[in-house]
Amino acid sequence: MNEAKKKYGQNFLTDKNLLQKIVKDSFLDNKTVIEVGPGRGALTEYICQYAKKVIAFEIDSDLKQYLDKLEQKHENLKITYQDFLKVDLNTIKIKENLDQEVILIGNLPYYITTPILFKFIETPFLKQATIMIQKEVAERISSKPNLKTYNALSVIVQYQAEVKKIMNVSRKLFSPVPKVDSIVLNILKKENIDNAFLNLFTTFVKASFTQKRKTLINNLHDFFNIPKTVIEEFLIKNGFEPNARAEQLSITDFERLTKEWSNLLK
Ligand code: SAM
Repeated sequence: MNEAKKKYGQNFLTDKNLLQKIVKDSFLDNKTVIEVGPGRGALTEYICQYAKKVIAFEIDSDLKQYLDKLEQKHENLKITYQDFLKVDLNTIKIKENLDQEVILIGNLPYYITTPILFKFIETPFLKQATIMIQKEVAERISSKPNLKTYNALSVIVQYQAEVKKIMNVSRKLFSPVPKVDSIVLNILKKENIDNAFLNLFTTFVKASFTQKRKTLINNLHDFFNIPKTVIEEFLIKNGFEPNARAEQLSITDFERLTKEWSNLLK
């Protein structure tokens, strides 16, 4: 058996009950699924039993020796050996004739959890994700304001999706054992989110949190190059203190401020 590669965040799952529960709680029946990092195929095996079609992306072609057998066994499985972050999902959607609503699944490699999450959020046809991620990131995604864990990811994800914790997973269930525990999250995108507004919202939130210790005025000034006096007036007009910080704002505050900000930019 090949040694697990640390540089690719390879911590494999073996517990059959856990694997089955993840797949059951993802409601995959007859759905199209994209899996990130099938590894040796432990989770993939169960996904293929329920889903209509499974497209998996694995960066490490040394794992082909395990995955080839699985691909022969399941007609609905197609594995591509590619970096998921470099995959053009819109091209894949057309080439593979994917459904309008696709589910993303993965026991994610820890070193790229956040960029994978952003790719999910920014790809409209990915409607739902069931992902196993490190506990700390899961806590950030579901965080409320005024907590250390609250950041741009918390706001951007919660604005457009319902986040549900499925279960805690002890590090002991992985091989090799990682340094952190994990959580399985289910993220379901909300209907009727306006994509044009979402782009501005995402930019505004990312700009607001650029440097967490800085005030909103400084972060917005650095990012948009708008005079601080104009931003100060904007904040006061909208009921915020001039020294307000991004971490104090609720998701509704960000929504309201983004709308006002778009008027300011006109
Ligand atoms: N799904 C398997 C399991 O649960 O046992 C493996 C999970 S392991 C935590 C993460 C997997 O993602 C590894 O197989 C690793 O090689 C793969 N991986 C790492 N970086 C990747 C990337 N950029 N694109 C696609 N797969 C990646």
